[in-house]
Amino acid sequence: MTTRHASGPRDSGEAAPLSFRRDLPGTRVVFAPGALRELRPQLAHLGVRRAFVVTTGGRAAGLASPRDVLGDALVEVFGGAREHVPVDTVSEALGRFRASRADGCIAIGGGSAIGLGKAIARASGAPLVAVPTTYSGSEMTSIWGQTDAAGKRTGRDPAAKPRLVIYDVALTLGLPADLSAASGMNAMAHAVEAMYAANATDGTRAMAEEAVHSLTAGLPAVVAMGSELGARTLVLVGAHLAGCALDEASMGLHHRICHVLGGTFKLPHARTHAAVLPHVVAFNAESAAEAMRRLGDAIGNADVAAGLAALNRTLRIGATLGELGLRRTDVDRAADEIAAAPYPNPRPVTREDVRMVLSAAL
Ligand code: NAD
Repeated sequence: MTTRHASGPRDSGEAAPLSFRRDLPGTRVVFAPGALRELRPQLAHLGVRRAFVVTTGGRAAGLASPRDVLGDALVEVFGGAREHVPVDTVSEALGRFRASRADGCIAIGGGSAIGLGKAIARASGAPLVAVPTTYSGSEMTSIWGQTDAAGKRTGRDPAAKPRLVIYDVALTLGLPADLSAASGMNAMAHAVEAMYAANATDGTRAMAEEAVHSLTAGLPAVVAMGSELGARTLVLVGAHLAGCALDEASMGLHHRICHVLGGTFKLPHARTHAAVLPHVVAFNAESAAEAMRRLGDAIGNADVAAGLAALNRTLRIGATLGELGLRRTDVDRAADEIAAAPYPNPRPVTREDVRMVLSAAL
């Protein structure tokens, strides 16, 4: 899919315009410059005649004019997708989906739009199409999430998985530098935790390693110049591969921490991932030696935690958990919740360990 490389981060200019198609079980992937043009013909293959578009109210909604792309196949645009998929948003969107008599849902945007699309697909049985505009990787997973007053619930359900994913790099060119950086580090976290997941296969690790190479090489150039097509392509490929790895592997302590900080403490998803990742990697390093060796090669620093922290600095992600909204007085409650339902992790985790990691990231 991408060219092979020697150890160490690669040159961001390596990935010239790249196109590929993958027919994975249940999901067709079209990755190409201008791929948005394929949306309508591909919808016909899925038997979708009345498409309901979900997106976020921000700039993502204006990236593509859904009417220009979908013509009379478009029945409604719902622009109210929100982070962590609040249940009241799901109720509202599902009511509109049903009233519109749509027979397919198209999520255009980042993980928030795709997450809402997953909720609609699970509730209605209609096929979901994802047109990602960030690097969340959600488009490649059967993982769903929803948030209510009790916090965030997640699970895996084949019905949540998009049947068609359209990657058009042009849709990412306007993603601002700070969102690109944070979203790219969210993708990095998927790949890093897949590398040391007990249930990862050789194939999962190969995709994750390739993702780390691509993200490490592409992200600095994307943040320096967002219109650089080669770097944007490299990062989008990295996000795709990281999403595939996320779908195949169980996630560890890092994802458990981010799940609770986002769901219960309302911290922003991608920037929280960026802030926490170096600290969890430092905690896990000695219990995942082979993964760290490969990750070290991929990011160009044998001390992976230090390499990730340095990448955060290069990407001008300065955020600490404190700056993102976690108070020192929240740490005990967060540690209780995180330790109460631990995810599988290469190093056993106690509540005190969680407190230590959170305090280091504060
Ligand atoms: P997001 O979807 O909330 O987008 C962030 C902001 O960027 C929004 O304001 C949006 O309008 C804007 N935006 C998106 N694309 C843009 C573009 N190209 N140009 C300009 N603005 C753009 O953020 P996200 O980080 O992509 O997604 C976070 C959500 O995804 C969280 O709820 C998280 O739990 C979920 N997620 C789910 C999975 C999964 O597998 N289920 C994986 C990763 C993330």
